[in-house]
Amino acid sequence: METLLLEAEEEQLVKAAVLLKNNEVVAVPTETVYGLAANAMDVEAVRKIFAAKGRPQDNPLILHIGSFDMLHDITDNIPPLAYSLAEAFWPGPLTMIFRRKENVPAETCGGLDTAAVRMPDNDFTRKLIEECGFPLAAPSANTSGLPSPTSAAHVFADMKGKIPMIIDGGECSCGVESTVITFENESIRILRPGAVTPEMLREFAEVIIDNGVLKQLSPDERVMSPGMKYKHYSPKAEVYIVDGSDEQFTKFIATLTDGKTAVLCGNEALPENIIRLPYGASAEEQGENLFASLRRADELCCKAVYVRSPDTEGFGLAVYNRLLRAAGFRVIKL
Ligand code: AMP
Ligand code: MG
Repeated sequence: METLLLEAEEEQLVKAAVLLKNNEVVAVPTETVYGLAANAMDVEAVRKIFAAKGRPQDNPLILHIGSFDMLHDITDNIPPLAYSLAEAFWPGPLTMIFRRKENVPAETCGGLDTAAVRMPDNDFTRKLIEECGFPLAAPSANTSGLPSPTSAAHVFADMKGKIPMIIDGGECSCGVESTVITFENESIRILRPGAVTPEMLREFAEVIIDNGVLKQLSPDERVMSPGMKYKHYSPKAEVYIVDGSDEQFTKFIATLTDGKTAVLCGNEALPENIIRLPYGASAEEQGENLFASLRRADELCCKAVYVRSPDTEGFGLAVYNRLLRAAGFRVIKL
């Protein structure tokens, strides 16, 4: 199959919408990461997403809406708190879980009786959803298990020949997937951290951070967000998180003698044999660079990638959650 790569311009909207209305898959830009989109209400379309990604069938998809009204097609149970959160954070990187209506296929939701919904903060993609008239199921547009794509080139590398169209909307500003929450009585439970932080959500209700956010769940533990049980976001290179002071970190890195070792770093002084990959000082910069740098490590055929353990306040929790999975929960304590 030929894969067209088109700019996110008004004139491409109709072309993309025609494909989506014909149950095809189109990769679209969002502010978080690129999405692999198809008609969320059609089983045939949704199956093509799972096939293109190689995603396990029990890992549910997020439904993307273009306007608040579309939420009523998906659920008839919207808690009052959801209205306040939508007003504060939509369009934006917050995914809320609702009881789904019967017309939402079980396949879209990994067989669960709930549906995860968000409104992306990307004008082209929201207009595209409105043009289609149905919500788009859109997981990250990478091959299952690999780092998420934050540019159209990343999507092309994984999806060339597998899908008919990729819309290039430039680099994603956020770089990390949305915050996923569920409502529990009067509280908010965070299943996956993102750019809408626990601190921001605490303005609205009590916030519980699910065990799976920072811990590797044992096989018999109940998983509230099925995606969390899979190894995720990993390049071929082995990723290690390093926990220690600046000084300890620099000393530790100096002991690594293999030429194909990379470090995600800011402006630390590092030995010359180490490959430096962009990271940044703030959690926001780190989130923006993380997946691109992990992909770059594979392009450079690195064997190992070392990353400093981030601060877990605010958006740092999301960066750490992704890093833990990319590293298979390996943390080197200095
Ligand atoms: P991705 O598509 O890669 O952004 O991943 C979507 C994430 O949302 C996964 O971790 C899923 O487990 C989670 N998710 C989607 N739908 C639901 C749902 N109905 N209940 C719980 N988690 C969900
Ligand atoms: Mg993903």
